[in-house]
Amino acid sequence: MKNLAEFILQGDNFAVISHISPDGDTMGSAAALIYALEKLGKRAQWFCEGNVPEDYAKIPQIEKLVKSKKLEKIENAICVDISSADRMGSCLQLFNNTKNTAQIDHHATNTMFAKVNVVRDRNACAFAVLELIEELGVELDYDIARALFVGVCTDTGRLSHVGVTKEDVLDTAKLYALDIKHNEIIATLFQTSTLKKIKLKGRASQHLELAFEGKVAYTYLDSTDYAEFSAQSSDSEGVIDMCKSIENVCFSFFIRQVPNGYKASMRCKPEYDVATLCASLGGGGHKLAAGCTIEADRETAIKILLDKISEVL
Ligand code: AMP
Ligand code: MN
Ligand code: MN
Repeated sequence: MKNLAEFILQGDNFAVISHISPDGDTMGSAAALIYALEKLGKRAQWFCEGNVPEDYAKIPQIEKLVKSKKLEKIENAICVDISSADRMGSCLQLFNNTKNTAQIDHHATNTMFAKVNVVRDRNACAFAVLELIEELGVELDYDIARALFVGVCTDTGRLSHVGVTKEDVLDTAKLYALDIKHNEIIATLFQTSTLKKIKLKGRASQHLELAFEGKVAYTYLDSTDYAEFSAQSSDSEGVIDMCKSIENVCFSFFIRQVPNGYKASMRCKPEYDVATLCASLGGGGHKLAAGCTIEADRETAIKILLDKISEVL
């Protein structure tokens, strides 16, 4: 972490890069980092391929990220919550053209693609960013704490996931200490829905199948399903949780159509490992939550995933 703090202290202008199809952890971590950089008198601009899901944009600290000011010159780039360079999407070009590169992440599958790499074994990148902010000696404030809380909530299931540690809870308490209005963030992100989200979930539940004596649950959504409800990919975020929640299910996956095939989200019970499984298909992630993209038609994608699961079940 010292190396990354030095990297930051030596620079003046920074691109902060989030991963494609941004989630709460990559955006919350990026927003917190940009606030901290600004407190140090640095200039920073956010870069990300993909639309910000509507719910997240309702949180002022994330909205600010989207509107972060444009820089004329960029000499330093920092990636947040990005396990491999390809997860930058179209921002990879900017990264490759930047002189000084660094990253802060928490994926076991991280490929160490930057010059300065900090990869922490934590349940959210936001926790690693909190450690960085402490290392920099930047005082935690309301905006930073709220931004980090968005990341924590997204990646730990609001501190409910099986791997959540005492350290996670103690770090989260530091955020609560700043009166972050936690209930407002949770209500916006997790307790408010839209008709299109509910319709999509209904469609996904119609497509739901069980395999291997009920140990595997899976479903899919095609582009036509999203189009029918004028929905975007982030509107189906809860679908994998629906699959995972079924009694006796050890593996679940949800695939959604993307221009080059199907993007898979996978989850498993603690005795299994979907990070390795997804890595073998060119993706990555965490032991219990991972993903990959399969360049094939729907039937083939499902068959590939079921075959992979059958090898480890
Ligand atoms: P998701 O299923 O999209 O919620 O992703 C679960 C976890 O896997 C997250 O930590 C993602 O960053 C990671 N992940 C998803 N898709 C990929 C991919 N294609 N390559 C690497 N990591 C991924
Ligand atoms: Mn992420
Ligand atoms: Mn993350």
